[in-house]
Order: sequence, then C-alpha cells, then structure tokens
Amino acid sequence: MNWKSPDQDFAARARRVLAECRALAQMTEEPGRITRRFLTPPVHDVHAHLSARMQALGMTVRVDAIGNLRGLWQPSGPQAKRLLIGSHIDTVPHAGAFDGVLGVVLALELVDIALVEIALLQNEKARDRLALEVVAFSEEEGVRYATPFLGSRALAGSFDPALLAAKDADGVRMDAAIRAFGLDPEKIGEAALDPKTGDPGVLGFLEMHIEQGPVLEAENLQLAVVDGIVGQTRLEFRFTGQANHAGTTPMHLRHDALAAAAEWIVAVESIARSEAGLVATVGKLDLQPNAANVIPGQVELSLDLRHMSDLTRGHWVRYLIHAAQSAAHKRGAEVEWQQKLDQPAVEMDPGLTMQLAEALHACGIPARRMPSGAGHDAMVMAARFPAAMLFLRSPGGISHHPDESVREQDVEAALRVGAKFLARLAATVS
Ligand SMILES: [Zn+2]
Repeated sequence: MNWKSPDQDFAARARRVLAECRALAQMTEEPGRITRRFLTPPVHDVHAHLSARMQALGMTVRVDAIGNLRGLWQPSGPQAKRLLIGSHIDTVPHAGAFDGVLGVVLALELVDIALVEIALLQNEKARDRLALEVVAFSEEEGVRYATPFLGSRALAGSFDPALLAAKDADGVRMDAAIRAFGLDPEKIGEAALDPKTGDPGVLGFLEMHIEQGPVLEAENLQLAVVDGIVGQTRLEFRFTGQANHAGTTPMHLRHDALAAAAEWIVAVESIARSEAGLVATVGKLDLQPNAANVIPGQVELSLDLRHMSDLTRGHWVRYLIHAAQSAAHKRGAEVEWQQKLDQPAVEMDPGLTMQLAEALHACGIPARRMPSGAGHDAMVMAARFPAAMLFLRSPGGISHHPDESVREQDVEAALRVGAKFLARLAATVS
C-alpha cells in the first residue's frame, strides 16, 4: 500500500484541524472560559459536532455507557484488524483549546486521509486489512469526580464500579450523572474491549497529544515519540520540633522543624538535578504556628517524585526518606512520612512505538524519544493493548491554561506522520 503519492494538501488539513479545535472550545460550561467536565451539558454539543463529522466520513457512531463517543471506520467489514486512535474531550477548569481535543480531531482527519488515499489508489487490499476506531474519551482529567481516566478505564476493562457512588461538588452521584446524560451505568462493562474474548481484532491504540511541557520547544523540535509514562511517588512528611520563643531560645538549644525541612528541600532539588530524567517537587507546605516571633514547631510538606525507571525512583525515594530523618535528627526533631501514591511507570509498546518512529524518519522529522511526565489515556490503554503516543510541541510549554496553543506546521507534521504510520501498519497487518 502506497499512501505517499496523492498530493493531498496537508497544510489545509492542519488549518481545518485547528479550526475544529477552536469550534469545540466554544462548547463550554462557562461563557468566556473553556471548562467542560465529564458528562456536563456541553458534552452533548461536542458529541453532536463530532458525530456529524464521523457520519460524513462513513463511520458507525455510538456512545458507550461511560460516555465515550466511538466512531468505527470499517470499510470492508469486521474481519479487518482495527487501530484505536483518540484522546479525551473533557477539560480542566479555564482550560486551553487543544489538550485532548486535538488528538480526537487529528484522528478524524486521519480517517479522511485514509478515505482519500484508498479511493485514489483503489487499493482493495488495504481496505480489507485495516479498520480505524476513533475514540473521544469522556473523562481523563479527574476534575468532576476527583478520579481520572474514567473513559479509558471503561475501554480497558479496569473501571471500578464502586466509583459510581462518588459525588461531585454539587452532590450528584456519578451513576445519576450518567443517567442524566441518557446512558445506562449498568452497561459500563459492555464498553470494555477485551482482546481475550470479544475483540481479537484490536491492533492497538494511538494517542496524539500536545506535550504540555517545554522540552520540544527548547530543542526546536516539532514532534516526539513517547517511550512511556513516568512512574510517580507522592509522599507526605511531617517534621516535628519544638515551638518556642524566637528571642529567648539560643540557637544551640532549638528544635527548628522548618530549618530541618528547608535543608531537606534543598537536598530534594539537588538530587533531582543530579539524576537524568528525575523530577522531584516539594509543592505544598504547611507551617505551625507560622508566626514571625516563634520557632517553627511543626512542618507538613509533600514530595512528588517521578522517573521512567521504577528502580531509580525507588532508590531516590529511600534516599530522601533517609535524608529527611538525618536533617531532623541533627536538630533534635522528628520526622514521620506517609506514602500517598506509588504508581509504576508504563512503557509504550516497543513494536508500535518503533513503527511510529520510522514514520517520523520517513517524513524527514527527527524522532526524538521522550517519556511523558503526565498521565494520559494511553497509559491506561497500555495495560491491555499495545499503545503508542505522539507528542506535538507546546509553544511556551504552556498547558492547562487559556494560552495553550499548537503551531499549524506541527499539526501538519503530525498529520503526515500519522498517515505514514497508518500506511506502514496496513502494510504489515496480515
Ligand atoms: Zn490531556
């Protein structure tokens, strides 16, 4: 199958993708701001808009019971192996116009490219080989119910039904929200794709997403192939010393909890700078009694530490716990700690990832490999299916903010790479 010959106007396609993202950004809970939480009214508008496009592309459209909009392009019937492509359509409050949505709109543009290619080449064989299912995941950000990845968990068969009893800020239970949207929460199990039972034909999942960080821009690169999603540890520490008078307590008789914590925070930064790929953050700090003339008696703080290697992450977590104890004991203070999160790293599928990297090479684009520091639907899907992920440069490294953007030429590059990737995949599917 040769998909490189037709002179499709990729620049015009990129402009259409950007216009579609901006149109979808108008569908929001808050006028003047982009806020679209799980199954809120504007999601109906997004579904209507995307469904119309899917139908125009000849796709079979359905909404599963967790609210994922799914369009199946299967020109030759159910015997064709299918690739899932998509991302999420929910947003954080006061969001940008591209996080998630871009991946869905790009996927639909790829279906359009595939249609044109097949029509131009009259390639019956290619039609028999490959089907595409575009998925607009209903929930990824975890905003409404404080639990992320609801959409992809349902597809991957890892949705926990206990979540249905969770309540949002207005006291609306998740199962009630699902019913109010016109769906049946009892049927969430049917949303699952199970390679063992019902879906032997799933080749894998591809997600295209903005980087949401500054690395590609700093290196003047357009795209990156994601190796995996970093593992993450979250710990809470409490340093306890002795609050006392700031004027009458000599330095050598103090038990200053903040001084101990401060020494340790600097150690966290210096360790993270010394290990490639390690990021560590103390982002939250609570100080008692927090008065100018009192020696701090107690400090509570958080540690967020991430790395692609679980071994490396575990090593530095143990090291930093030891460093906290040593900083405390030096001052006659104590430290306690509690683990809040221990999430292993998730590798993308080596085979699909290699095909994606080859597609970049074939387009003359350097195939920068990088881990993702943030979680994505691809991380959840990777537990059940081969998954691959493509990052597009984030101008200014800005995301989860109304200034979030993406460059037209990077969208064009992603479309070229996506088309090449599909062509290579179709060629290797038997
Ligand atoms: Zn996202």
